[in-house]
Amino acid sequence: MSTIETLFTRAKLADGTIKDIGVTGGRIVSITETGAPISASELIDLEGALVVPGFVEGHIHLDTSFYGDAWIPHKPCTNGFDVHERVAFQAQNMAQAAPMDERARNQLDLCIANGSTYMRSHVMVDGSVGLKSLETVLAVREEYRDLIDIQLVAFPQSGILKSPGTPELLDQAIAMGADLVGGLDPASFDRDVEKHLDVVFGVAEKHGVAVDIHLHDGGTLGLFTIEQICARTRALSMGGHVAISHAYGLGDLSIEAAKRAAALIAQSGVSIMTNAPGAHTFPPVALLRAAGAIVFSGSDNIRDSWWPYGDGDMLGRAMMIGYRSGFYTDDELKTAFDVVTEGGAKALRLADYGLKIGAKADFVTLKAEHVPEAVVAVPKGRAVYKAGKLVARDGTVLRR
Ligand SMILES: [Zn+2]
Repeated sequence: MSTIETLFTRAKLADGTIKDIGVTGGRIVSITETGAPISASELIDLEGALVVPGFVEGHIHLDTSFYGDAWIPHKPCTNGFDVHERVAFQAQNMAQAAPMDERARNQLDLCIANGSTYMRSHVMVDGSVGLKSLETVLAVREEYRDLIDIQLVAFPQSGILKSPGTPELLDQAIAMGADLVGGLDPASFDRDVEKHLDVVFGVAEKHGVAVDIHLHDGGTLGLFTIEQICARTRALSMGGHVAISHAYGLGDLSIEAAKRAAALIAQSGVSIMTNAPGAHTFPPVALLRAAGAIVFSGSDNIRDSWWPYGDGDMLGRAMMIGYRSGFYTDDELKTAFDVVTEGGAKALRLADYGLKIGAKADFVTLKAEHVPEAVVAVPKGRAVYKAGKLVARDGTVLRR
């Protein structure tokens, strides 16, 4: 073998073996027994740390977080949770917040420092902000291109039918550089599932892009909307290119009904995103995966108008998924970990993900014996590598 650029020695892999990982041109070119004679320009000793693929932050809002800005106390809805009212509160908060690019950078630094090397962010596109937020986030994405790969979803936060001009804006957003088209509670927000999905899938079909829809509706209304999204996905042969974020309704069903829904979701090729939210029903992760459905995760809101929580740590998110799902065995803990790594990579259709030859050299070192321990202990003191370059250490992003 010719001389490789960087040899990472003494990496503990998930299977417990200690290997040397060779990287050239930002990709993994060799995984060999540690100490095997390999000619490398640079040696980096990982000292037996557990090495895992970079985390996939599959659902976040870079435009609306106040992380790193002044603390904005949470304002509760006047009469129970109301998406319309929350959107209005958000507009008030945004008017007094620091510039969006600054807040987006704060949030990106937080996520990268914790080990995320891939991200999908929803960005508000509606009649009030137009394409301004997207323009800002697109520019920040460019600044961070060597640190993290980011997919952007044109997100109709104020509805599609309720906010005049939004169908056209979603179309323009994709032309401008957004990667996916989003949606929001077609039934409860826009009161018309058919017309809402006509726009979402219409834009997706026109531009050949994927779909990721926010769906908070519970019970039978949520299930009905999921069935409609699955039907559209199959009709347009878009399996693998459609995600439903939250899908709380799946957590309200009987086991039998959930199994039927899971089979439909898996057969349709629709992925489900859950952040294992606090006091809320959420999708049955193990049941969905058993049916063959892809489940991924994200921080969703971090210090924004919707809730004050969030730390941008997808390993911590795996812990929350495991905790809320009642996962105790090693296999179950590995499942929670898979949701924030391989599951995310499948949902985001990431090419060349993982610790394997030919994959991008994006990985994180963890101070843990193995993956199950990492999920419950959520160890800090990580090193984050993107394309084989150190981009963050001990919670701090290293600017290069
Ligand atoms: Zn969201």
